[in-house]
Amino acid sequence: MNAEIIAVGTELLGASRLDTNSLFLTDGLNTLGVEVTRKSVVGDDVVRVADAVRAALDQAGLVILSGGLGPTEDDVTRDAVALALGRGLEFSQAIADQIEARFAQRRRKMVEINKRQAFLIAGAIKLDNHNGTAPGQWIEHGDQILMLLPGPPNELKPLFETECVPRLTARLPQQFIRTRAFRVAGMPESDLDQLIAPAYRPYTSVTTTILAAAGDIQIHLRARCANESDALDQVEELGQKIEELLGDRLYSRNGDPLEAVVGSMLRERGASLAVAESCTGGLLGARLTDVPGSSDYFVGGFEVYTDAMKTRLLGIDARLIASETAVSEAVANAMARGAREKTGATHALSVTGEAGPQSATPGVEPGTVWVGLATPETVRASLFHLPGNRNRVREFAVQAALNLLRRAL
Ligand code: ATP
Ligand code: MG
Repeated sequence: MNAEIIAVGTELLGASRLDTNSLFLTDGLNTLGVEVTRKSVVGDDVVRVADAVRAALDQAGLVILSGGLGPTEDDVTRDAVALALGRGLEFSQAIADQIEARFAQRRRKMVEINKRQAFLIAGAIKLDNHNGTAPGQWIEHGDQILMLLPGPPNELKPLFETECVPRLTARLPQQFIRTRAFRVAGMPESDLDQLIAPAYRPYTSVTTTILAAAGDIQIHLRARCANESDALDQVEELGQKIEELLGDRLYSRNGDPLEAVVGSMLRERGASLAVAESCTGGLLGARLTDVPGSSDYFVGGFEVYTDAMKTRLLGIDARLIASETAVSEAVANAMARGAREKTGATHALSVTGEAGPQSATPGVEPGTVWVGLATPETVRASLFHLPGNRNRVREFAVQAALNLLRRAL
């Protein structure tokens, strides 16, 4: 079965409100094996919403509308769906009583316009809304289904889970879904896709999604089969092929982020980590401490943005910075060595670079970043030329630093 979602609300067409309900619904529908083939946002206008419903019914077995079920003049979803289906609206005393009781519970008197919410499209089943006044509606139209759901996400989500999912499940052929989430560092998205596409393309019952962020790529596999062992076999088999192709560039098999993976490695080895950051201004420390329990291995860091601070806090010779510039292999090494010595940590990472948009270091292009690593055995640094704007360069730099440590560990 395929579905179309129509988000109703003029406010969703403006710049201040985003339609998030359709994201939630799409996720829930995909889990049931229903594919969302189109979604749209339509303003609060009866004719336009009715047109959208008719167009959706031409294409989809399931049409879901969110929003516009409230009591005010601009809530037009009930009228629009009735119009599109050529059905009437029927007043339900039971719903009116429920709404009145809800008001009474809050020591308020129901105003007359709330009765608008007590109208059901002829033939519709009422879907109880325990978090608001407007009930949802479930309508069977030939072999098609329409759902009307309230707009506020705190009402729509529980209503969908408790009222819609069981009804849909009962109608759909039984499906089993198995998933895998891999993460990869230090590889451009296009290179990765070129490498793994020949492996995943033949698997028609596994959906492969590649999500790229700065220096981090997630690969999601989702197998959907009529029986459980097929779904598991498919996702395992393809997962195995992808693992072999990616080798040690793959750092996570369960979706854990790089800082969590590096943290576990440090903990297992009884090692500890300090950081010295210049152009990332604390982002590396923030990422490391995002992980609960990171105090087991992360000791702290130095935010040494200026040359003077590099000298004062880490004891780096000012003449070295003057002769080599702050963005250099020698200074990256000195920062890592200094952070390790000052804290007594077994390992230290340093980051020094030009995040842009302008470079303050003569002869150094924006995007140039040195990452240093001091271990009990050695001190060394790697040079990166990172793409993108200031934010992306900084995110890339953090990822590069964590990945360098991962490889060393
Ligand atoms: P109400 O009874 O509250 O009026 P309603 O069903 O009429 O409910 P709307 O008036 O369309 O819903 O929307 C109410 C609020 O819900 C909006 O102000 C908005 O904050 C939120 N909302 C509506 N639609 C969406 C959506 N598609 N995604 C996220 N939030 C939404
Ligand atoms: Mg409303």
